[in-house]
Parts: sequence; C-alpha cells; structure tokens
Amino acid sequence: MIKFNNVSFRYDDKADNVIDSFNLDIQQGEWVALVGHNGSGKSTIAKLMNGLLMPDEGEISINEAPLNDDTVWEVRKRVGMVFQNPENQFVGTTVVDDVAFGLENRGISRKVMQERIENSLKEVRMEGFENHEPHRLSGGQKQRVAIASVIATLPEVLVFDEATAMLDPVGKVDIFNKMQEIRSERELTMVSITHDLNEAVLADRVVALNQGEIWFDGEPREFLKRHDEFEEYGLQPPLFTRISNTMKDQGLLIDQEPISIDELV
Ligand code: ADP
Repeated sequence: MIKFNNVSFRYDDKADNVIDSFNLDIQQGEWVALVGHNGSGKSTIAKLMNGLLMPDEGEISINEAPLNDDTVWEVRKRVGMVFQNPENQFVGTTVVDDVAFGLENRGISRKVMQERIENSLKEVRMEGFENHEPHRLSGGQKQRVAIASVIATLPEVLVFDEATAMLDPVGKVDIFNKMQEIRSERELTMVSITHDLNEAVLADRVVALNQGEIWFDGEPREFLKRHDEFEEYGLQPPLFTRISNTMKDQGLLIDQEPISIDELV
C-alpha cells in the first residue's frame, strides 16, 4: 500500500539527511504506529507519505502508483493527514464549513456532502457543534473536527501526526475505537505517529525510529519485551509497564515478567 524504497531526504538548511536509504512497506488495512523521540524523523516520513515533502533519492509508491510531481495531487486526495495543531488546518468560519471545505471540488453532490459531514461529525462525537466557530473550541474538540474533516473525504490512508495529543485519555481511546470501526468498514490503512506508547501499543504493528533509522519493526507485544531499551531511545514505557515494574521492584509481583498488552485485552 505505502512503500518507501531507499528513500533519502534532507532539509535544505541542514547538512545531514533526516532519513537515509529508508525502507518501509505498509500493507492495505494495516494500522502502523510510528514511534520515536522528538526529532527522530516521524513527521518528515509522514509528510513524505502524501507529497508535502518529496524525496531527494529513492521512490515512494502508494498502491503501486509512484508518487511524483504528476501524481501528487491525486495522492493527496487518497492519503488524508491530520496534524497535531488543528489551527493550521481550519479554513471555515463554522465547523460545518470547515468539514465541507475538503469535500469541495471533488464532484460530490450537495446531498452526499451533507450526509458525509453529518456522519463524520457523529463519528468524532461533535454533532451539535455544526455552527460553532472552530477557533473557539477546546484543543481536544479542535482535534476531533480536524479528524472529521479528513475522514469525510473517505481517504484510503489516514495519517495521524500526534493528532490526538490534546484529547484526554478516555477521548483518545474513544477516537481510536471509532477509527477501528471505520477501518474494518472501509479497509482503511492507518499510520499514527506518536511518542505516547500507551497509544502505540493499540496498533497492529509498531515501527520505532531513532535518528531516522528503524530499530524495531513488529508486533506491539514484541515491542514491549524490549522495554529495557526504551530509555536509551528516548521513550517512556507505557503506564501499565511502569506500574508492573514498580510493583515488581517493591516485591509485589514475584518472578513475573512485566504485564504485556495480551493480558490487558
Ligand atoms: P519528529 O517528528 O520525530 O519529531 P521531525 O521529522 O520533525 O521529527 O524532524 C527530524 C529532523 O529534521 C530533526 O532534526 C528536525 O530538527 C529536522 N527538521 C524538521 N523539520 C524541519 C524543517 N522544516 N527545516 C529544517 N529541519 C527540520
């Protein structure tokens, strides 16, 4: 679905490549969490996925179609992105206008547009806010509207770049549950970028980065077994791992491995 083949990228004002001969293959319908400390290259990779940045070397393809100057506009319609700061994504004066904006120029009838707006606001639990001004909403509500705007366009790939960072823990889980429903309905591919491992372990697959290089790629349960290395790579273990480690240190858990995600779900 999304393939990075020996991709290198450098910002003009920097001497070194952020990623160098980088390879990544994401399957259709998969949910991949891209994790890493600040500056490890996560956002750069996200922006390369929908042509906001273009590789200096190597190729990126979306569903076998190469991403280049000729295909970039088509790819942007198929790869929806939600960034951490929703302010930058708001264009409308009301919530409805904002969600409608992304649907314009797509040849969609007024009726279908209204349905899509209504449904996507419902998915993120923002029904009733249609006529509110986006800028006056709380941080979490703004993020919900930004997510609604993107899911209304029915993307094939949804990229969340810290897109739920302003939601409270219950709100985060709620949004990810909704995304799971949408994924199974539409075979949506998801890439969520986060430094929050509580969120990352909900995905099908974790790809962990350090200075633009992948140091782990596999299932969340295997990732959690590497918890001794998290600190070295600038990551904080998920809350349940920290609790079980503390309990173990205090002799409350004897001869037991720290709790894994399997025991919680
Ligand atoms: P992350 O998302 O993991 O925090 P980024 O992809 O934002 O990492 O950043 C990777 C590296 O690229 C960092 O060293 C950062 O300073 C640099 N970088 C990011 N954006 C820019 C930019 N617009 N111009 C120059 N350097 C940048």
